[in-house]
Amino acid sequence: MQKLEVLYQWQEARLKKKKLEKKIKNLPEKYELAQRKEQLEALEKELESKRNQVAELSRELKRKEDQAAKVETQRKNYEKKLYKGETQSAKELEQLQMKVTQIQKEEARLEEDILETMMHLDEGREEEEKKAGQYKEERKKNEGVKKEYDEEKEQLGKEVFQLEEEISQLDGSIEKKLKERCLSLAERTGLRGVVPVEGSSCGGCKVSLSAYVLEQVKGGKEIVTCESCSRMLFLPGP
Ligand SMILES: [Zn+2]
Repeated sequence: MQKLEVLYQWQEARLKKKKLEKKIKNLPEKYELAQRKEQLEALEKELESKRNQVAELSRELKRKEDQAAKVETQRKNYEKKLYKGETQSAKELEQLQMKVTQIQKEEARLEEDILETMMHLDEGREEEEKKAGQYKEERKKNEGVKKEYDEEKEQLGKEVFQLEEEISQLDGSIEKKLKERCLSLAERTGLRGVVPVEGSSCGGCKVSLSAYVLEQVKGGKEIVTCESCSRMLFLPGP
């Protein structure tokens, strides 16, 4: 193989590697993943807060039910006294009756309160369940996106590794001076320092090559450059 064709392969492998590395760095999923993670964490917080709310309502209900049971016992005690006939005086009876009535009112109030708390608790549990479902779904989606991202990153990493191998193999068979010239030309002209002849034009700047230059390339002269862009030219093998 011609020297410049090997140089060209080396150059192309390096360019491809650079492109892949840039692609890895800018994988869109990376940004998407970060965003999704944020979203998931927000959902998790909402779920946690819903759970706390439900737990608090549960405790509240228990407190109220305990209170209702306590009041009921009180009322029963008074009623016992009232109906046992132990108490004689009309005034005492009246007082007992008043207490029973008072407690009954409180019981009615507590009963209503308990019903309302139960309703809130039901609503809270429903919302909690809904949130938990959303969270689960979002987490599943996230795992899917992350898996895709990891797979693509791994695939690109493998390609980069293969290119590195190729570059290091070619490296040894190209003179240092030639590589330096290629790189400095690439820096001046953009991307490539060595290009193939395409038909009768330069593969870099696309300008038609003079008959003289073409003849030199075809004649096998080692280093021929484009008169227009100064890039090194080679005739691609069949
Ligand atoms: Zn050119």
